[in-house]
Amino acid sequence: MLTEDQDPARTGESSDTPPQSAPPASGRRYVPPGRPSGPPQLDFPPVRNGIDYLASVVEHLDENESDVGPRDLKYAVLHLQAAVEVLLKARLLREHWSLIFKDPGRATRKNFESGDFESCGTDAAVERLRDIAGITIDRKEVEALKDLTKDRNALQHYGLTHNAGAVEARAGRVLDFLMRFLDTELLPLLQGPERERAMQDMIPVDAGVKNISSYVTRRLNRLRGELAGLESQTIMCPTCEQMTLVVAPQSGDCRFCTASWDSAELLVFDYLVCSDGQLARAYPCPQCDTTTFVEGVNFVDGPRLSDTLYCFGCAARHEARDLANCSGCSRPWPIEADVDGSDTTLCPDCWNQVSPEDVA
Ligand SMILES: [Zn+2]
Ligand SMILES: [Zn+2]
Ligand SMILES: [Zn+2]
Repeated sequence: MLTEDQDPARTGESSDTPPQSAPPASGRRYVPPGRPSGPPQLDFPPVRNGIDYLASVVEHLDENESDVGPRDLKYAVLHLQAAVEVLLKARLLREHWSLIFKDPGRATRKNFESGDFESCGTDAAVERLRDIAGITIDRKEVEALKDLTKDRNALQHYGLTHNAGAVEARAGRVLDFLMRFLDTELLPLLQGPERERAMQDMIPVDAGVKNISSYVTRRLNRLRGELAGLESQTIMCPTCEQMTLVVAPQSGDCRFCTASWDSAELLVFDYLVCSDGQLARAYPCPQCDTTTFVEGVNFVDGPRLSDTLYCFGCAARHEARDLANCSGCSRPWPIEADVDGSDTTLCPDCWNQVSPEDVA
């Protein structure tokens, strides 16, 4: 699974004992990536290495693949700890290379370049990220990281002796933190091929985390606050199928899986493709006339299984009971806006085609 430039010797990993099914890390020696004399922030294999550990975590915890057994949980926790260390240090490295030394005061460029130094542990990395890089890591996240270290140590020495459910829930908390950390603090800093490669590597991770219930529960809990007040704009995401897609005119932005769309047409296409074989359709919108008016869109604040029609273009929202089909072209049209006063509903286009004699 590892490619040659994900050489584990370059990870900067400081676990005492490497995860067993992972490539062995080189103890506490950190070997800087890339050209020995080049600025380290231009070359960034640790990010990919960290994502590779994360991919392994997700594989082990993916409930769609198989039930999560004790062995899966063990390797998930070991590799999650490795991913945490590698990715936190990858971010520190962007700040300054000396910060990944156990003692930055004694860091030398020469030792950094030769990899001859002891690197800092997770606790110190978190502290430096907060104090020096100004990254927000809240108290609960710090606790989750500390708990993971404890679980990791216990698993490494004694195997799984604790309640597996609790260990899995704690792993879910750290996974939630790490996904957010990658999205907001690390991936946006990458550029060019490095970024493309990381995005590529994240595809299986993004796909797998959706099937991890401890992660999903944790993340949805956290999102509850973030989505409060946005209920009238929140619908099901076609990518992750959570009710976490916040829509606005011409765009949509999923807070759960971070999928986003900046065109109403693309969003409508994905939405219809993923609407589970139900025969939802898009019609010309009564307000903006674009064919982005979709039936059967369920909002968080709407009644369950409501027949809401929503325009992804101009954000017009109508309940099915307030609409009738135009007798001419059958597009949905608001009953109250119907102009002829009869039982028959005609949209303005069809109304204009009616010859004056017909009306008379
Ligand atoms: Zn989503
Ligand atoms: Zn519209
Ligand atoms: Zn019509």
